[in-house]
Amino acid sequence: MKQNYFDFIICGGGASGLLLLKALREDPYFNTQSILVVEKELKNTNDRTWCYWELPKGNFDPLLIKVWNQAQFCSKKIHQEFPLAPLQYKMLRSAGVYQTFYKQFKQAENTTFLQAEIQDIRTEGGFTEIVTTQGKFQSKRVFNSLFNPKPLWNQKKHPVLQQHFVGWFIKTSTPAFDPDKILFMDFDIPQEKETRFLYVLPLDSHTALVEYTLFSEHLLKLEEYEKGIESYLKTKDITDYIIEEKEQGNIPMTCFPFEQFNTPSLLHIGTAGGWTKASTGFTFMNTRRSIERLLPFLKTDKALDTFTVRNRFRFYDLLFLDVLTRYNAQGSQLFSRMFEKNNPIRIFRFLDEKTSFWEELQILASFSLKQKTWFLKALFQRLF
Ligand SMILES: Cc1cc2nc3c(=O)[nH]c(=O)nc-3n(C[C@H](O)[C@H](O)[C@H](O)COP(=O)(O)OP(=O)(O)OC[C@H]3O[C@@H](n4cnc5c(N)ncnc54)[C@H](O)[C@@H]3O)c2cc1C
Repeated sequence: MKQNYFDFIICGGGASGLLLLKALREDPYFNTQSILVVEKELKNTNDRTWCYWELPKGNFDPLLIKVWNQAQFCSKKIHQEFPLAPLQYKMLRSAGVYQTFYKQFKQAENTTFLQAEIQDIRTEGGFTEIVTTQGKFQSKRVFNSLFNPKPLWNQKKHPVLQQHFVGWFIKTSTPAFDPDKILFMDFDIPQEKETRFLYVLPLDSHTALVEYTLFSEHLLKLEEYEKGIESYLKTKDITDYIIEEKEQGNIPMTCFPFEQFNTPSLLHIGTAGGWTKASTGFTFMNTRRSIERLLPFLKTDKALDTFTVRNRFRFYDLLFLDVLTRYNAQGSQLFSRMFEKNNPIRIFRFLDEKTSFWEELQILASFSLKQKTWFLKALFQRLF
């Protein structure tokens, strides 16, 4: 074996890179295969708070910061509280995940971590080569999680919204939160002709992550998100608090076919691979599910660019994004209608792509007549 050749190379040691590494290293089938992970950063900070819903007893439970069993959904029209059972809403903070994974797999046999910047990734012949600040490496199986947003902006076929937000971890002087209940979405705030909501995750009665979030095309200035959080807290009579930490992010919401950049020896993963759920921005569990499908595929000799995660839900996401982009000011009403007319668990199962076609029709039926015409129009424009 050549010195710079590995059976697998993972570009980027963030969420998808580490989830893939974990899956490969924990499957005895790949025990003897060498893996190189190239990451430019030290990965020791809380640069992400990952939340997701799943059944109790999940794979990452030992690393969880908090679990909730109740949720709320609010808009001008409805105020709903509901149990999440049989699901739970779970929170991980990235520093703990990075530390645990790096510690666990640094000791693992056939596993090499390299802290270096990747400057180029190119497929030549049957191999993909990565050029880094620490040298060049080759593999027949390279997984790339380095997200390049440029191709998104150079096309018009697929709408691109962003889930963008600023969050404050605040601590109040008096009890202000119900620690058992998340506020999944609160649209009862000025929409400013866009889709805007608050998302509140209470850690205890005094502490919560409060995020001002948009599903829209353009980012705001930092002050605008912060003003949004401040005025929301004021409407809830929460004025005496300290900000302990801040977090900010923007996640692409699009059905853009990222897989077109795959080659027989290169697969894009995570956000870079289009593994972000286009209609919500949720990526963590989606990535895990994609990796669950990828592992059996890797036990075959098939070319990486024949791996696909597309299904009918991708088409629903596409239609939803067409509608949400065109009628961005109506997002609050679209979500309201869904939560008003459906058991919320059905919505979570739909987002998990686990519903039957009949249930999907019921979700469609929950929209108003006017909203249905928007979806029909989007469908015709996509088909003809
Ligand atoms: C603040 C924030 C909160 C989020 N919260 C949630 C959530 O609650 N639930 C959810 O499902 N999703 C959430 N997401 C979305 C998504 O889960 C994350 O963005 C997730 O980290 C995506 O994983 P990834 O592997 O695609 O990208 P990343 O985790 O960003 O990994 C890519 C890695 O590549 C490295 N890298 C980049 N360029 C180079 C280079 N040139 N050379 C070497 N290494 C490089 C980066 O340092 C990074 O570690 C959140 C995103 C953000 C930003």
